[in-house]
Amino acid sequence: MSTEAAIKEKVSYFEELEAIRAELDKCMKCGNCMAVCPVYGAEKLETSVTRSKIAVAEAVLDGQLELDDPQVYEMLFNCLVCKSCMSNCPTQVNFERIMLALRAALVRKNGLPWLKKMIFATLKHPKLFDAGMRIGAAMQPLAFRGEQDGRAMAPRSPFALVGKGMGMDGERLLPSTTTKPLRERMPEVVTVQDATMKVAFFTGDSLNYFYPEAGEDLISVLSANNIEVHIPKEQSCCGTPVLVHGDVATVRSLARKNIDAMDKSGCTYIITGCGSCGNAWQHDYPELMAGDLVYAAKAQYWAERTYDISTFLTRVITMRPPQGRVEQVVTYHDPCHLKKGMRVCSEPRDILKNIPGLTFKEMKAPDACCGSGGSFVLTHYETAASIGKKKADDIAQTGAETVSTGCPACMMQLMDNMHRCGQDKEIVHYISLLAESYRRENEATKKN
Ligand code: SF4
Ligand code: SF4
Repeated sequence: MSTEAAIKEKVSYFEELEAIRAELDKCMKCGNCMAVCPVYGAEKLETSVTRSKIAVAEAVLDGQLELDDPQVYEMLFNCLVCKSCMSNCPTQVNFERIMLALRAALVRKNGLPWLKKMIFATLKHPKLFDAGMRIGAAMQPLAFRGEQDGRAMAPRSPFALVGKGMGMDGERLLPSTTTKPLRERMPEVVTVQDATMKVAFFTGDSLNYFYPEAGEDLISVLSANNIEVHIPKEQSCCGTPVLVHGDVATVRSLARKNIDAMDKSGCTYIITGCGSCGNAWQHDYPELMAGDLVYAAKAQYWAERTYDISTFLTRVITMRPPQGRVEQVVTYHDPCHLKKGMRVCSEPRDILKNIPGLTFKEMKAPDACCGSGGSFVLTHYETAASIGKKKADDIAQTGAETVSTGCPACMMQLMDNMHRCGQDKEIVHYISLLAESYRRENEATKKN
C-alpha cells in the first residue's frame, strides 16, 4: 500500500464506516478472543465477545442492521475498548479501530446525547473545566463522606440511593478530588542544578485532579535524576474519554491544543504517568491528525518522543539506583493502555524490583483488565464489578499489602474492587514507591 493510501485509510475510518471493511474481513471467527475478552469472561454470552461484535458490524455495513438499533447500541457500548482481544488474535484484527469507527459513525448519525455533549464541550474550555472541578471539590463533603483518612470518599445517602445502579452506592470508594490541582501546585518549570535534559510532563486530568501526589512524585523522581521538568499550563485532557464515545471533532480540537502546548515548551520528550494519555500521544494523535496539513507531522514527531516515565528512566536515561529501603510486599497490575497500547510491561517491574527492601509478588494474569474502561464502570456496573472481583481475588492470592499500577483510572477501579471484596489495600502509582525510596535515601543522608 502506498503511503498516500495508508494515510487515506487511517483518516477515513473516523469519517467513513466503509473504511473498516478490510479489518472486518480479517476476522475468521475462530473465537480466540473468548479467552481474553473480560466482558465475555464475566457474562459468558456469545453476544459479548469480539467476534459477535464484528458480525454485527458486518451486518451494519451490509445494511441488514441499523447502527442505532437498541440492540446494536447496547453491543457497541458493552465493550471496554481494552485491546485485550487484539493481543490474542491470529489475524491481527484491529478491533479498537472497528469499535471507534462504529461509535464515530453513530455520533455522525444521531449526534451526542445531551449530557455527553455538555461534558465534552467543557473539556474544550480548560478554564471552565478547571473551575467546575474546583467547585466540585469544594462541594464534595455535601455529597460524599470522607474515607481512609480523607484520601477516599463514598457517596452519602440519598446520593448513594440515586447512584446505586451505577455502582455509586454507599460502598463505592473514589479518590477525593483536590481543591489544589497538580498544575497549580507546581511551577511551570521545575529547575534542577546541573540539568542534563529538559522534558515536558503531560499530566492528564486524572493525575492533575485526583492523584496530584502521584504527579508530584513523578516530578521528584525526574528531579532526582537531574532532569528539568516543564509542566505546560495550557495542556488539557488527552481526549481518550471523548474518543471512545465517538466525538472525533472534540478530540481533534484537544489534540491540536496539546500539541501546541508541547511545541511551545521547547522540550525534547513528553513524559506521561498514565497509560491512556501516553497511548493517545503515541497512537491516537497521529491517526487523528493524519490528514491535517499542519498537525500531521507534529503529531508524528511527538508520538516518537512520548515515553511512559518507566521507559524514560530505564531506556532513555540510566536512572540513579534508589538506595532508601521501602519494606513493603508489592504486586503490579498492567493497565490495558500501558501494556497493550504503549507496550510497557517489564519497565515498571524493573523499577520496583530495584527498590531496596521491596518484595515483588507477581499476580496471576497481571494484564487482565480491571474492569474500569472509563465510563464503562458506570454504565455496565455489574459486569465491571464481576471483572473487578476476579482481579481482586488474584491480588489477594499474592498476599501483597500494596497494589501498584501505572494508570490513575486503574487506581480508582482497583481501590473500589478491593474495598468491595473486603481487601482494603494501599493502591499506589509505581512511581510513588520509587519516589519514596529516594526520599528515604535523602533523609538518611541528612541524618549522617
Ligand atoms: S481472535 Fe481475531 S480472528 Fe479470531 S474471532 Fe476473535 S477477532 Fe476474529
Ligand atoms: S476491546 Fe476488550 S472488552 Fe471489547 S471486545 Fe475486545 S477484549 Fe472484549
